[in-house]
Amino acid sequence: MRKKLAAGNWKMNGLKSNLGEVSALTQAHPSPACDVLLCPPATLIGAMAEAAGGKLAVGGQDCHMNESGAHTGDISAQMIADAGGSYVIVGHSERRADHHESDLIVRAKAEAAIGAGLIAVICVGETEAQRDGEQTLDVIGEQLAGSVPDGATAANCVIAYEPVWAIGTGRTPTLEQIAEVHDFMRNTLVARFADEGNGMRLLYGGSVKPSNAEEIFATSNVDGALVGGASLKASDFGAIIAAL
Ligand code: 13P
Repeated sequence: MRKKLAAGNWKMNGLKSNLGEVSALTQAHPSPACDVLLCPPATLIGAMAEAAGGKLAVGGQDCHMNESGAHTGDISAQMIADAGGSYVIVGHSERRADHHESDLIVRAKAEAAIGAGLIAVICVGETEAQRDGEQTLDVIGEQLAGSVPDGATAANCVIAYEPVWAIGTGRTPTLEQIAEVHDFMRNTLVARFADEGNGMRLLYGGSVKPSNAEEIFATSNVDGALVGGASLKASDFGAIIAAL
């Protein structure tokens, strides 16, 4: 049985003064039925972990593939774990685009995350042009093959399907389109990882909000959500947690 996961990605938003959202969230949802994760900017990981007091999980939004070294501005998976994080997002489409991260790089980062004892949240998703060109399943298949490392298990790896055109736009795929991709991902992961692939949680991400969370969560092979904008406020994210 896969335990559902509500994951929030704060992206480049949040200062110490926003940490009140964490206590508001844990107070409003003291014992959620699902796992809850917040990924703030790296500057807040330690303080958020402290504010959360173990009541929700905290994670990074990216890590370097190496443990340490001369990589100015980067942080390692070990550093995230050391700061109190237990998850890290890798391969988000914003990083694939802004920092030219290839599947090979994403896979190396996921391996580093797993090696440091973190759970890797590996993101995949097609662009609008790829969907219009009916290439969606080919693109997702290629990204899964390239980005998910051989050592991935149900315990150390979560996959997030985030159509690039649905991120921050207010547009979402139809439930049939979400089901098609999630069923395809499940079959692909089971073909490669057998039972472990069956246990991996598959999140949907892209314009998830309180008003559409329930129907998305009821969709085939959707085990939770990766939420951007609606994770910033405890009231919105709390409503999404309640929908799980
Ligand atoms: P939005 O929920 O703001 O569309 O962002 C989704 C996302 O990119 C989460 O990683």
